[in-house]
Amino acid sequence: MINSQQHQTLSFLRQRFAEAGIDLHKKLGQNFLIDLNLVRLIADSAELGPEDVVLEVGTGTGSLTAMLAERAAVVVTVEIDEDLYRLASEHLYQLSNVVMLHADALARKNQLNPQMLTEVEKHLAQQPNRRWKLVANLPYQIATPLISNLLALDRPPELMAITIQKELADRITAKPSTKDYGALSIWVQTQCDVELLRVMPPEVFWPRPKVSSAILRIRLNEAKRAQIPDRDFFHQFVRDLFQHRRKFLRSELLGAVKGKLDKPQMDAVLRELRLTGQERAEALSPHQILQLAEAVRRRIQA
Ligand code: SAM
Repeated sequence: MINSQQHQTLSFLRQRFAEAGIDLHKKLGQNFLIDLNLVRLIADSAELGPEDVVLEVGTGTGSLTAMLAERAAVVVTVEIDEDLYRLASEHLYQLSNVVMLHADALARKNQLNPQMLTEVEKHLAQQPNRRWKLVANLPYQIATPLISNLLALDRPPELMAITIQKELADRITAKPSTKDYGALSIWVQTQCDVELLRVMPPEVFWPRPKVSSAILRIRLNEAKRAQIPDRDFFHQFVRDLFQHRRKFLRSELLGAVKGKLDKPQMDAVLRELRLTGQERAEALSPHQILQLAEAVRRRIQA
């Protein structure tokens, strides 16, 4: 049986990578957790049970994967690096509920890999009570598009227990009128409840990154999500709205609708919501931004 403990100490990793002739790639976010208690904390945070289908992005050496496999129905784990994929396969092949994909979790830079989604959907379809969760120590360079695009799906993960850069966790959890508040905060907070579970210093990873990280739990909130009638429109709207943070709301909105509404029409939208247009988008709550998006969308369609 796999002993996940032995696979995540600094000495084990060093020796194993040296034996296998593996060079690590900074640009792939290859920073491994060398504190097993934190690996366990990620797994615990996901509240796993036998009905869960787990997607892990970034198999690495497979130590978190093995821990997840002990607790979930199935783990679909994706690794882009051929050497790491091979290394992890050496011990994960024994686990019948682990599906390993040697692939990029993103397709064409900014979209989710359809092969990865098909694999998850296949396992979700096997039982009616199956739940989808993302549990991962994410490669930092793809964390934002991954989280954003998962929340654009009709059926996104019900829970994400993830390690990401602290700076990204700050942007996701940010409150209005703060420097970190923006399109991503709104996109996530209008659909989910978010908890910052732990801040971790660079020392708990090897090789040591320059910045701190955090464990975040993002729980899908179906009641919140049901209030977004057109998710594609809303996603684009929030991104466009925060293109130029220093502008006033009225001109920001006119830019965001790209000529689909004229100034009098936009003023009517603003009046409807009791706004003057002299506010800044960053001062509005996620709920206010959603109301604004809906008023704009309805007027475009009228
Ligand atoms: N799960 C391991 C752990 O906890 O130690 C590894 C985490 S490490 C932060 C991120 C992993 O993601 C690396 O193994 C890296 O090669 C892999 N990776 C980077 N970009 C990827 C991508 N686009 N698709 C899939 N895996 C990727």
